Amino acid sequence: MKTIGIIGGGQLGLMIAEQAHLLGVRAVALDPAPDAPAFRVCDDHIVAAYNDAEALERLCRQCDAVTYEFENVPGDILIPLSEKYNIPQGYKPLYDSQDRLREKSNAREHGLQTPRFAAVDDEASLRTAVRELGLPAVLKTRTLGYDGHGQMVLKSGADIERALPLLTVPCILEEFIPFDSEASIVMVADRERVVSFPVGRNIHRDGILDLSIVPAAADPEVLERMKLQSERFMRACGYEGILAIEYFIRGREIYFNEMAPRPHNSGHYTIEGCTTNQFRELVRYLIGEPLQEPQLVAPTVMKNILGQDLEAAREVEKENREGVYVHIYGKTESRPKRKMGHITFVGMTGETYEKEWADRFVR
Ligand code: AMP
Repeated sequence: MKTIGIIGGGQLGLMIAEQAHLLGVRAVALDPAPDAPAFRVCDDHIVAAYNDAEALERLCRQCDAVTYEFENVPGDILIPLSEKYNIPQGYKPLYDSQDRLREKSNAREHGLQTPRFAAVDDEASLRTAVRELGLPAVLKTRTLGYDGHGQMVLKSGADIERALPLLTVPCILEEFIPFDSEASIVMVADRERVVSFPVGRNIHRDGILDLSIVPAAADPEVLERMKLQSERFMRACGYEGILAIEYFIRGREIYFNEMAPRPHNSGHYTIEGCTTNQFRELVRYLIGEPLQEPQLVAPTVMKNILGQDLEAAREVEKENREGVYVHIYGKTESRPKRKMGHITFVGMTGETYEKEWADRFVR
């Protein structure tokens, strides 16, 4: 029996472990929190910090292959480990995505269009960047930002003053894209092929993903181009394993926003909405099984359940309706804006969700 290791024990680790079990594979997770959600379903776990080299080595020693669901694993630990153990995705896709400046430069170098951007380190470089890119523009910290944390939209000159406190760390200023919609794609690649999941339209609220609607209602040519350019990009960068890319769509233009070399929140719909899912294909990649091309089963909507919606989600779960799949991650502490679960509605369009379901959750 094969064993996979997961650096990180959040909901992504939980769902990787669930799919591993369905494939007859054991799973071990490492996380600093003793009550990490993935620990409930893993065969074994290690409570340790992500920079605890000895603990990470212990994880690698007991696994046939190791992956990460946590993006900020430090390179000075992961690189030596990947030379000794089987961490097939390696450090490169993490390295390329850990810093927004590097991430966007890398996307551009490998053929993707990005919003125009400039590095910003202090007031002078911020003012120069604003002159170059114009306003509105989005200021983001280069590292450790997520779900809209560590960013600010600058609309007028007066906002420059307000933005100065962010500049205690290196930042990036990006042109603001007045997009028609946001979309994302999840791909899994091995040496032979890249398989990709149908593109979903993503709706964010307060910088956090709220809904994924699949298929994305966009021009089919634009969606096809997004798929082809994403697969080409993954190959050109030499990445293997899993990669998610988030885009802005404006008219016929596609702008790269960010990427993550791990399962993605917008891909949770694939568990029931597709013939195979992002977690399962990642596990198949890790254990060296051939990848399967996914097909969409039916139009699908995924609703993220944050702390404020947890009670409503439990009510939906009790109703046990056909095509409605409630996932509660079992986090011990519920907080507003914390991702506590998700619900997948298979056989539902965005319009039907809006009419029949949206009012059941906090607006
Ligand atoms: P991020 O953390 O970079 O994904 O940003 C969070 C959200 O902020 C995105 O999903 C967009 O809704 C919005 N956003 C970020 N960057 C831009 C941009 N350059 N133009 C317009 N909206 C943006």
